[in-house]
Formats: sequence, structure tokens, C-alpha cells
Amino acid sequence: MLPLPAFADNYIWMLHAAGQAVVVDPGDAQPVFDALAQRGLRLAGILVTHHHRDHVGGVAALREATGAPVWGPAREQYRIAVPFVPLAGGDRVEVLGVPFAVIDVPGHTAGHIAYYAPALPDAAGTPVLFCGDTLFSAGCGRLFEGTPAQMQASLDALAALPGDTRVCCAHEYTLSNLKFARAVEPGNAELLQYSARCHELRAGGLPTLPARLATERAINPFLRTREATVAGAARGFDAQVSPNDAVSVFAALRQWKNTFQ
Ligand code: ZN
Ligand code: FE
Repeated sequence: MLPLPAFADNYIWMLHAAGQAVVVDPGDAQPVFDALAQRGLRLAGILVTHHHRDHVGGVAALREATGAPVWGPAREQYRIAVPFVPLAGGDRVEVLGVPFAVIDVPGHTAGHIAYYAPALPDAAGTPVLFCGDTLFSAGCGRLFEGTPAQMQASLDALAALPGDTRVCCAHEYTLSNLKFARAVEPGNAELLQYSARCHELRAGGLPTLPARLATERAINPFLRTREATVAGAARGFDAQVSPNDAVSVFAALRQWKNTFQ
């Protein structure tokens, strides 16, 4: 599994096996063409999580040049100009012989979907999740089209996946997310440790992703809205927060993060 850097901070994830490749959210076609040529791979499929330009901008050119089939979110069909096979939660799609389950994760956009496979042929057979702009390492996507309740439910669904799941997020936002996470939970030892490791990776020019889901559950404030420390911090930001209501805590955290420097 390769994160192909695109634009300022996007990753286009590429899976490959036996000379064939699949890409997720190709916002730009060129990094994909380059990776295919370098490795002598044929494009066998394109998966899309949501309609934003930085995720679909390269789909038409890749489809035209390679004939690769495209799958995407059924509920965002009218917002994506390229024809694709529509998918929604509960559907399955097989690519490179791997069956991916589709999960509905509304919040960042109204029809956002994620792709989960329990095992991959390429690396150690661990599960993998392509979650677009829903879950980031130490953070989550902004709510452009959904409500806090929807996003909390979407994150709950992703957080329930196995702990060894490799989380393939679509942006390298980890360091700025970690800065916020440390402000929310300054006493979280695992968070401080993870933060130090991510700074080292970035200093060496390496991606912090994929993340490990078990780590995210321990350090990502948006997956920890039921923790007393996180609820208390949210209440410090907004005194109206109900500390026993995960959605209320989530909404305050999201607002706080939106303006956090
Ligand atoms: Zn997006
Ligand atoms: Fe994005």
C-alpha cells in the first residue's frame, strides 16, 4: 500500500498485487500515472469516498486513459461528473480479489462512504480502512454537509473496527491535529509518545500514515468524546456542553478545533 502525495497534503492511496493497481480518491491523475509507469502496473479500479475536487479531480483522466472501473458514493452521484458504479453502506465491492465492505460515514459530506477490507494480500494480512476525510490521525474532517450527531455516529462505526486496522486517511494533517489533541488532553501519555514519533517521521520526510486504529482510540480526541477528561476539556471551551452526551462534547470539540491555532 502506497500513499502517493498529491497537492499540498493529500494522499492518493494505491494498492497493488500481481501487476494490477487500485487507487483511492485520485484528486490528481499525474501522481497515479507516474506510479503506474514506475512500477509497471495496470490500473484495475478507482474507489472514491466523496465528491470533493481534491478526491475526484483525476478520475476522468485516469478512467479515459486506462478504462479502469470507478466506484463511488451513491448519494453523491449527482455531484460527481464521471460515471461510476454507485455504492452505499452494506454493499460490497471486490477489487484485486479483495472484498471491501462499504460503510456510510456522513458528516464531512452528506454521502461520504468508507471502504474496509478485513485482510489485504500485500502487507501482513491486516485489515485496512480507506476513510477519505472522515477520520484523520488525531483528528476528523470538518462538518461541511452533516451534523455533529451524524459525524459522531460515523466515527463510532469506524472506531468499532478491529484495533489492528490500518487507517488510510486522505490528508497528512497529523501534526496540526496532534497540537490540538495535546491541548485537549495534556496528560495523555500515549498521545505525547505518539506525537513525538510523528514529529520524527515528518522531520524525516515520511508520512505518518497509515495510522493504527487502536492508537487512534487512545489518542484521537474525536474518538474519545466519552472520556471524562475530554468532556471536561470540551466544557472548558463551551460551558453549555453536557459532559455525558457524546454528541454535545463532539460538537464543542469540532468548533474549538475550527478556530484553534
Ligand atoms: Zn473532503
Ligand atoms: Fe480532502
